[in-house]
Amino acid sequence: MAVLGAHQSIAGGYHKAAEHARRTGCDCVQLFTKNNNQWRAKPISGDEAAMFGAALKRLKVKHPLSHASYLINLASPDAELWKKSIDSFVVELQRAELLGIPYVVVHPGAYTTSSLEAGLKRVSAALDEVDRQTREMAAMTLLETTSGQGSCLGCRFAHLAEIIDGVASPERAAVCVDTCHIFAAGYALGTEKEYTATMRHLDQTVGLGLVKAIHVNDSKAKFGSGVDRHAHIGRGEMGLEPFRLLLADRRFRRVPMYLETPKGEEAGRDLDESNLEVLRGLG
Ligand SMILES: [Zn+2]
Ligand SMILES: [Zn+2]
Repeated sequence: MAVLGAHQSIAGGYHKAAEHARRTGCDCVQLFTKNNNQWRAKPISGDEAAMFGAALKRLKVKHPLSHASYLINLASPDAELWKKSIDSFVVELQRAELLGIPYVVVHPGAYTTSSLEAGLKRVSAALDEVDRQTREMAAMTLLETTSGQGSCLGCRFAHLAEIIDGVASPERAAVCVDTCHIFAAGYALGTEKEYTATMRHLDQTVGLGLVKAIHVNDSKAKFGSGVDRHAHIGRGEMGLEPFRLLLADRRFRRVPMYLETPKGEEAGRDLDESNLEVLRGLG
């Protein structure tokens, strides 16, 4: 059985994310540990962290995963934004550490006015600085695959491999694969042959052992469009087959998978619950 869950809101407290997860049938949960569109955040109290840990345990929700703020750009050529991004990402790791979360997912960033090569080096240098400030922590970085919008890095598996190869402590970084993003970036998954070729390529660049989390999302945007729009499982451009192949892939049996599909209800039913049911029906 695959380990399946979803991103959940922390409105009302971190423990609420665990409660939402349990209510909708999640085995695992992803959350933002702060407002993802703001730089600032109030510190996490010991009580909040204890309540979160207790709720995960009581509700048997495993593999808590943090997603970093969208404002962070570790590839930025702008000195001020780059520094701010490093400081902010250090805080993200500190918050994860406090909450007992082992991994923080971050998008590699956008090189904007510099170049692809300069951008990749910039991310490695940023991660080195982050590492210097968080050396005693267990929480690690997961670089996420992206759809390739604008100058965003991470739309080729080789980008992630190059960033990790370029850091002083590569053991502090691993990868999160997003099905919607790689499909939009032009990695085919629709037939067994395509799926196998894409995963072989991922293995030869990043290495499948470095995939510590998977975001399971269908795509509203077309194959290779470079556009990042999540759709409900089986209702987007990807269809069900890539998810059937992924869930049948024993190499990912222990890798937690998180939905980041639109929230809401349909015919009185929570949509996360429906998406999880669709995925479990394929396994
Ligand atoms: Zn994602
Ligand atoms: Zn996305």
